[in-house]
Amino acid sequence: MPPLPETFPMAKISGRTENDLVAEREALNQGLCKWASAELRDLPWRATRDPWSVLVSEVMLQQTQVTRVASKYIEFLERWPSPQALTQSRASDLLKLWQGLGYPRRARNLYDSAHQIVEIHNGNVPSSLEDLLLLPGVGPYTARAVLVFAFELPVGVLDTNVGRLLARWSGRSLEPKEAQRMADKLVDPNRPWLWNQGLFDLAAVRCSKRNPECSGCPVREWCSWRGIGDDPAVGSAAVSTTQTKFQGSDRQARGRLLKALTHGPVHSSKAAAIMDLQDDVVRASRLIGDLQNEGLITVRHEELLLGDLLQ
Ligand code: SF4
Repeated sequence: MPPLPETFPMAKISGRTENDLVAEREALNQGLCKWASAELRDLPWRATRDPWSVLVSEVMLQQTQVTRVASKYIEFLERWPSPQALTQSRASDLLKLWQGLGYPRRARNLYDSAHQIVEIHNGNVPSSLEDLLLLPGVGPYTARAVLVFAFELPVGVLDTNVGRLLARWSGRSLEPKEAQRMADKLVDPNRPWLWNQGLFDLAAVRCSKRNPECSGCPVREWCSWRGIGDDPAVGSAAVSTTQTKFQGSDRQARGRLLKALTHGPVHSSKAAAIMDLQDDVVRASRLIGDLQNEGLITVRHEELLLGDLLQ
């Protein structure tokens, strides 16, 4: 039997606690930022630090895929390059442009935010977490994204992609506060923009939900999971669960009505049929009420109109 080598190479211990990761932050920052500098995807909102443009892109990206957002983002900013410009249009104009992005409540909130920014902040998107969170529809994720992508402040942005990475690096499911704390502690203080954008792209391009490409991953050394065993990201903080079915959903019915309204007013007697709910007028009427309450439509003399009458 041949003699055993004097030193047998030990497998490197891959598990990392939060403290380990924080202690090795500089090396981790270096590893990811080096990769991101070379590999970051060329996306239109990455060419600007203008706070309004960043806010618009983040609102659009909340629930819509990158590829669908890109052209709408450019179209939007050509038309409304500032909050002031948007306040001079009608909400219905924005709802028309929003067609195809889905979740139109976001458009309404953006419209109301533009008014708030003009009236309270002199037309400038606020640069504090506190003020950003007071804008309609702006939650912790969007507020932090504006802080880092417009103002380059060292905060961690925790979306479903980053949540997945943090859980995989930790090798376990994380609680919401723990995940946000980690996201904040791991930010590269000198390159917060690049670090956070790099996390998005690493998650989108390499560390996807179903097919992580662990071989050659730039942060493999700090990852506890590496694709072996149960995925710790399942059920972890900020990691989204499977979307509910669109076919036959309230979202689909609402979308049908809003689309019809972009071409002009609709008589209320036709709304259920447009929503494909002629056999369920109670549901149709509930959805019309919801759209009205959300400021997305107006009911006037038995006619439905896009937007509201306040502008
Ligand atoms: S090693 Fe694999 S699971 Fe870990 S971060 Fe990289 S791609 Fe994701």
